[in-house]
Amino acid sequence: MATELRSYIDGNWHDGARLVDDINPANPSEAVAQVSMGNTSVAVAAVEAASAAFAGWRRTPAPARGEILRKAADLLEQRASTVGRDLTREEGKTLVEGIGETKRAAAILRYYAGLTLEADGQTYPSLSPKTFLFARREPIGVVAAITPWNFPIAIPAWKIAPALAYGNTVVWKPAELVPLTATHLLEALVDAGLPKGVLNMVLGRGSEVGEVLATHQAIDAITFTGSNPVGRSIQRKATEHGKKVQLEMGGKNPSVVLADANLDHAAEQVARGAFLSAGQKCTATSRVIVEEPVLREFQDRLTALAKAWKLGDPLEEDTKVGPVVSRDQMQTVLDYIQIGSQEGGRVLTGGEKAKDLGDGYYVQPTIITDLSRESRVAREEIFGPVVAILPARSYEEAVALANDTPFGLTASLFTNDLTKALRFANDIRVGVVKINQESAGLEFQVPFGGAKESSSGSREQGEAAKEFFTQWKTVYMDQV
Ligand code: NAD
Repeated sequence: MATELRSYIDGNWHDGARLVDDINPANPSEAVAQVSMGNTSVAVAAVEAASAAFAGWRRTPAPARGEILRKAADLLEQRASTVGRDLTREEGKTLVEGIGETKRAAAILRYYAGLTLEADGQTYPSLSPKTFLFARREPIGVVAAITPWNFPIAIPAWKIAPALAYGNTVVWKPAELVPLTATHLLEALVDAGLPKGVLNMVLGRGSEVGEVLATHQAIDAITFTGSNPVGRSIQRKATEHGKKVQLEMGGKNPSVVLADANLDHAAEQVARGAFLSAGQKCTATSRVIVEEPVLREFQDRLTALAKAWKLGDPLEEDTKVGPVVSRDQMQTVLDYIQIGSQEGGRVLTGGEKAKDLGDGYYVQPTIITDLSRESRVAREEIFGPVVAILPARSYEEAVALANDTPFGLTASLFTNDLTKALRFANDIRVGVVKINQESAGLEFQVPFGGAKESSSGSREQGEAAKEFFTQWKTVYMDQV
């Protein structure tokens, strides 16, 4: 019997309205769990529980809140091989990536535990000799965290940990495809001693329970990571209801390879950015812009890696690329590959569902070239192991191409020319720039977010998270 997963509200597990299977994308006939899907009344109960718990949690000293996060980090680390394995079975990324992401979530919890000992305000000189003037950061209230499936434990950790550390209570809606990993994170926090009602988890359909979170009057702020259409619709509703909103959305991240780059290194990094996690990262490399003198040499190197990297069972140690997350996602990716061919693109390698891997949702690492810059494959987010190669005649043309997108999440440049590296860091309109590194891969102690259509609201991660999860209170105190 598969484990039955439920919503968690006010310290209790809650049945939903109907059961659905949680499918293993490497082997779709296996249900890794069954999910009792909550409906709007479950979401309302979660919001009410978070609202009732706020007064007590806000009064809890910040270092005591941090102590619970620290314990949760330890528990998650102890459980990393079990949790990472379940993450792999549920989402499809390789075991190394699944365990690595779990350990990273533990590190994020520990980082925000540490921040609960940092200064939470400032004093100011007053114009009056008898006034003590200070301002401090306070929690906002009840925060809704809506998270995607592609980083099923790290993204929830980098939203929930700062929310709790700074004294907010939380209603969390994980993505439908990853309820088992979500339950592991929740359990680590509950087992660490989080009081009831402080963190509530609603398992259910985004379109159903998400509506409650975007509009309920007791929700003060919404932090969302996911696709652009969903993010924008949440923003419209939430803003109308007076809520603070933070959105992290899609990307079409370029890597630019200049003629003087170390091509072996560039090809390895671009392959990592494009194909690891089956390309399902918001920061994945989906366009490579290559200076013409090295186009052929670079293409050959990247193609060799795409062919050599093992596509297969993500639980096997030597697998580099696992399946994509679902049948729908596989179809979307295969449709884009076909669109690329119709647009005049030439597939250098890949281009199909793997034939020898049973029913698993495996798409071959795919490289497409000869596309025009207007083609959909060169402009739209695909979210699969597919990368488009575009030639450029100069640094200037490469940057213009890299910037020619509505998105602006991350970008990378490969060069040994320090001047061009510094110019690129200025010229490119994105939130994160990498020089001689893949476009994906983030550290948790620095701000993260994008430019243009990729993000909205203040940055996530690092100390920057404080901007979203707190508000200033200014105090004037007179001696009389
Ligand atoms: P999605 O937008 O389909 O879903 C994200 C979350 O929103 C899920 O929990 C989903 O259930 C919920 N949701 C769906 N409809 C809703 C509604 N009407 N109201 C409220 N909530 C609703 O995205 P996804 O497919 O889970 O994730 C992939 C997308 O996420 C990609 O576009 C990717 O680029 C983006 N992403 C961005 C970042 C970033 O930091 N910028 C990180 C990871 C993923």
